Amino acid sequence: MPVLAARAHDLDTESAFEVLARARVLEAQGRDIVHLEIGEPDFPTPAHVREAAHRALEAGETRYVQSAGLPALRQAIAEDIRRRRGVETRPERVVVTTGGKPVIFYTVLAVVGPGDEVLLPDPGFPTYASAVRFAGGVPVPVPLRPEAGFRLRPEDVADRITPRTRLLILNSPSNPTGAVMPEGDLRRVAALAAAHDLWVLSDEIYLRLAYGPPLGAAPSFYALPGMPERTVLLDGFSKTHAMTGWRLGYGVLPPALVEAFVRLVVNSVSCVPPFVQAAGLAALGGGQAHVEAMLAEFAARRQTLVAALGAIPGIACAAPDGAFYAWVDVRALGRGSAQLADGLLQKAGVAVLPGTCFGAEGEGYLRLSYAASRETLAEAVRRIGAAVAAGL
Ligand code: PLP
Repeated sequence: MPVLAARAHDLDTESAFEVLARARVLEAQGRDIVHLEIGEPDFPTPAHVREAAHRALEAGETRYVQSAGLPALRQAIAEDIRRRRGVETRPERVVVTTGGKPVIFYTVLAVVGPGDEVLLPDPGFPTYASAVRFAGGVPVPVPLRPEAGFRLRPEDVADRITPRTRLLILNSPSNPTGAVMPEGDLRRVAALAAAHDLWVLSDEIYLRLAYGPPLGAAPSFYALPGMPERTVLLDGFSKTHAMTGWRLGYGVLPPALVEAFVRLVVNSVSCVPPFVQAAGLAALGGGQAHVEAMLAEFAARRQTLVAALGAIPGIACAAPDGAFYAWVDVRALGRGSAQLADGLLQKAGVAVLPGTCFGAEGEGYLRLSYAASRETLAEAVRRIGAAVAAGL
């Protein structure tokens, strides 16, 4: 039997997809499962966006196109960056990708060599550490502390910088905690990145899903002076425009990284389908009422869910400042997160993620996605309350 290369074992999975698969098995056995594990808006992709893709398909936009992205979409993204972040950028710095996720891989593959250290948030999006290990780098977790509201503290970053540190990964608003870094902290982190000449990957995929004030706009690391010269901005359409299945995202890059990124696209997926890019163009152009409506609904659900969870003895939950996740403190229940999540799935039929999916610092927490209808959330809270009361 031929053997796998060692690096094949370095890739972790994203547990949301694993829990989803286990939930589907239970459903196939006739169980009714409430899904709060997957991080995707429950809203349909807006009609005008779907229609734009349709028109493009009918017009024959079904062939290979430029690997860096269609010029019109790169231009529209550059304008969007200018409008929302106040950063003057050029379309030549934008590379359109099959979702935001590949930007993590492309950045790490482009800048991290064997033994290089990468600072990343713990708890944090699991793909960061997975990609770093895959590239032969060393993930260095920076703890997000409950006493700091799970906001990354600049002093925790400073303490972990060594001569081997190459890259710092930031994610505000955060998956899984929903924490938003204040601008003052972002500035202090920017000063560290400049002083130690680090690359930065700023994952701002939830930037517009922020509850403010002001509603809809969290501070951007990428917008800070000098940062676009050392920072890859990751953003995309999945969350903001309810387009998870379309696979459309982008990186905005320092000029020195553009060529490497485009080659990674050429060598992996060639290009993003042109009719998908046409949909993206429609999402950015015209009105943004669909984004505002979704955000208003998330804001209302967030209030209701946090209050309802907080009323369950042994459970505490602070209101998240962004994204659509409740980061639920279950330490008082005296059980491991994985055991609790499993018990909730098997006994109560509620699919949630244990905090440990996001790193060791996630022990004692569960992540619940409130990108689910109000009825679904109410049913989930009812089942969790009953399960906790019954001792799980
Ligand atoms: N970054 C974070 C923090 C995420 O939570 C996600 C999706 O869950 C992504 C990036 C990637 O999103 P996509 O590849 O769908 O654009």
